[in-house]
Amino acid sequence: MSNPWFREWWRVAALLGGAWLFGWWLGAPHAAFTTALIIYLGWHLYNLYRLERWHRQRKKTYPPDASGIWGEAFKYIYQLQKSDQQRKKRLRSILSRFNESTAAMPDATIVLSKGNTIEWFNQAAKTYLGLKSKRDVGQRIDNLIRHPRFVEYLSQGDFDEPLELPSPLDNMQTFALRVVPYSKKNQRLLVLRDITHIKQLERMRSDFIANVSHELRTPLTVVSGYLENMLDDQEAGSEHWKQSLQQMQEQTARMTRLVEDLLMLSRMENGERPLAQDKVAIPAMLTVLLENAKILSGKSNHHITLDCDPSLWLNGSEKELCSAFSNLLFNAVNYTPDAGHIEVRWLQRDNQAIFEVKDDGIGIPPAHVSRLTERFYRVDAGRSRAAGGTGLGLAIVKHVLDRHDATLEIESKPGVGSTFRCLFPESLALRKEHS
Ligand code: ADP
Repeated sequence: MSNPWFREWWRVAALLGGAWLFGWWLGAPHAAFTTALIIYLGWHLYNLYRLERWHRQRKKTYPPDASGIWGEAFKYIYQLQKSDQQRKKRLRSILSRFNESTAAMPDATIVLSKGNTIEWFNQAAKTYLGLKSKRDVGQRIDNLIRHPRFVEYLSQGDFDEPLELPSPLDNMQTFALRVVPYSKKNQRLLVLRDITHIKQLERMRSDFIANVSHELRTPLTVVSGYLENMLDDQEAGSEHWKQSLQQMQEQTARMTRLVEDLLMLSRMENGERPLAQDKVAIPAMLTVLLENAKILSGKSNHHITLDCDPSLWLNGSEKELCSAFSNLLFNAVNYTPDAGHIEVRWLQRDNQAIFEVKDDGIGIPPAHVSRLTERFYRVDAGRSRAAGGTGLGLAIVKHVLDRHDATLEIESKPGVGSTFRCLFPESLALRKEHS
């Protein structure tokens, strides 16, 4: 294929050369040459005008017919237009398929742009949150969902964990809300899933456990009362019978502890936050717990020490904190061999109030550490039962700490010992002058 510019140069050369020869024959070569140049320029202007007019017609019609280099230019522009139109058509179809699929999604999906303003949302968002396209696009999302926990969640910018929220339209409905940042333009995708059904099931399960535990309490009290009377009655029964009664009493006590632990867990699960804000005198509480731990240690003769900041108190629930700290301390006694060392610390460090129990007991293999706070999880079930454990102690600790915005750290080495550390935020710490 010959180069169109090559042909164009030939045309220009032929036109101007022909004009010069014709002019020479007439005796005015310059005038003929200039006339030919003007005609050539006019032809270009005319084609420019046609191009501009064609472009103004919004590229719908075919390109104008033209010869030479302009024919090539029109053809090239026309091809570009066609491929551009095809690309647009493809994009439109992808976009409409994307819109259809997101609109059909059962989860409410909202696109937020910079400043958390609503840019787009799907059908489920209209149903769940009552959003309306004309009214709400361009509005800030925190003007529409005004729950304080949502406003805080959005502003703090840590979206690793989903947030559970009651629906702004219906208090009986619960959503799990996730924010997914994407693109470099600070855009975010807000996804709301209806978890009302899951929440109902969870509540049914925990109500069931609470009811069963509650119902078991009275018969257990009656049985243990009778067993105590029978054991007190020195006259009655043989030695063998007394041993059986003692075993029955031990098992009843274990069951009572289990029921109490289950009740405590379900109370915490169903309890609303914020919890009771007592001003808790932790130093006094620890002194009592230490005495109880020494009684529990008994003949095992552990060396139990307390290093305590006497003016450091805590805002929280006294009952729950006492339960958590006693579980950690009594575990240390139960899982440390005779004459072992147990150190209890209560102090303030690095913007945190810290409760720590360190023992040089049997320790925990690393594979178990992450699962210890699960209900009924035990490293050695036999040993736990022999020590009177219910398998719920650390689950209670975890719940109590969650409710106080605190975290649990566990460091342990088998055969060397364990350290359980509760880290409370400074905002809960109180300074009280001790008398
Ligand atoms: P349990 O009633 O069995 O003690 P917990 O929930 O309190 O239940 O503890 C779970 C498991 O964690 C225990 O069974 C034990 O295996 C392990 N554990 C807890 N505290 C200690 C500790 N101080 N040293 C060694 N193991 C521990």
